[in-house]
Amino acid sequence: MRGIAAAGAYVPRFRLSTDELADAWGTSHASGIERKAVPAADEDALTMAVSAAERALSDADVDRDEVTLAAAATTTPPLEEGEFVPRLVRALDLPQSVATATETGHTAAGAAALSRALDADGPALVVAADCPEGEPADADHPLGAGAAAFVVSDDAAAAVGDVAWHTDETPGVRFRERGDGDVGGLDITTYQRDAVRGAVTEAVSSLSVDPEEADAAAVHQPDGRFPYRAAGDLPLSNEAVAAGTVVDRVGDAGAATVPLGLLAALDGADDGETTVAAAFGGGTAAALAVEGGLSVAGVADLDGGTDIDYASYLRERGYVVSGEVSGGGAHVSLPNWRRSLDQRYRLVAGQCPECGGVTFPPEGACQSCHARVEFEPFEASRTGTVRALTVIGQGGAPPEFAELQQRDGAYAVAIVALESKEGTVTLPAQITDADPENVAVGDEVAATVRRIYEQEGVPRYGVKFEPTE
Ligand SMILES: [Zn+2]
Repeated sequence: MRGIAAAGAYVPRFRLSTDELADAWGTSHASGIERKAVPAADEDALTMAVSAAERALSDADVDRDEVTLAAAATTTPPLEEGEFVPRLVRALDLPQSVATATETGHTAAGAAALSRALDADGPALVVAADCPEGEPADADHPLGAGAAAFVVSDDAAAAVGDVAWHTDETPGVRFRERGDGDVGGLDITTYQRDAVRGAVTEAVSSLSVDPEEADAAAVHQPDGRFPYRAAGDLPLSNEAVAAGTVVDRVGDAGAATVPLGLLAALDGADDGETTVAAAFGGGTAAALAVEGGLSVAGVADLDGGTDIDYASYLRERGYVVSGEVSGGGAHVSLPNWRRSLDQRYRLVAGQCPECGGVTFPPEGACQSCHARVEFEPFEASRTGTVRALTVIGQGGAPPEFAELQQRDGAYAVAIVALESKEGTVTLPAQITDADPENVAVGDEVAATVRRIYEQEGVPRYGVKFEPTE
């Protein structure tokens, strides 16, 4: 019977508790999530995919040479989607004749990749790995990380009975939700919840198994409460949903969350047990039913981990790196610097013509709805509030700031929220003219243009913030 022959889970080591988030922001938008997994600074979806896949392949009774399909799913490819799987193939030493597939752009991508592998001939490797990012003010709160890998073959420990789909237009139900700019945001409205619940119910009801007989269910889980609501019209017990829910421990790992929930349920499940998985993304729900269980390497990662504080979190995630406006790396070429001058001096942000959300810097996709749009530029307010803070101490500064640190000692880097009529712009920025120990979350600050650093012999200037009291 075709199905899952071996599997591996990977969750990064660091954890951030929701209490830490709530302390930093005064509130948290991570409903039903106790802790979330945090990728280290040198981890991304590709490295997590490799780690999970190594575990699955080590446990599989399949030679790497025999793998005929490598399918990957992520919503956060660290490089062009087309370059993701070739690196995975190379890192895992899979044959270069392997067929490849990438599913991306929606949170049902993991289930879609698994479905492809079930339809393929010969042994297939499927990896869902994700570490989504969002505005630190709100959308980021529930976002976690993790990877789930499956070796699919005709000699499976856990047979996949069937896969069922339900697809419909669900306007406004976005791939990644964000609030309306208020810190009360990230509200999953009743309409959105009903749309997801309807699609999940239809897909699961189309399976050949009776959902009433499911011992466990991994249901779409952008937060800890959602899977219970999404399953509300199905005869699934709360115990079954709990057995397939991992978001409470690792956060919303995008396309990897439901696959990780499936692995948590399959690990140690008995031969006669039935597990249902139901993922939703982009208007499509995918459901599958699995009979039996297997031992899953790495599943203990779900509960382990080392707690870190919020300042460390901001550094590990790269939200606060060097104190310059977000989007600039350690090295910014002069042409790129020149192009970004309006942002650096005038705090020019972009408003999305599609959804009204604001994005800073106004580049790439809309941070609210992820659409590729031509932003309407506007100048953000030059006064704001410190929302989170970290002090870069001796030796902690990136090289371009070492000189400043030698001259001025430790400095504070804050995430500053600028309430503008178009929406709240949040950005990391250096705090100046203040003893970093005397700056606190909630302080009012005002923009001032200062020397940021010197690179390639050219001094670079831009906005920093100073306390107004
Ligand atoms: Zn938008």
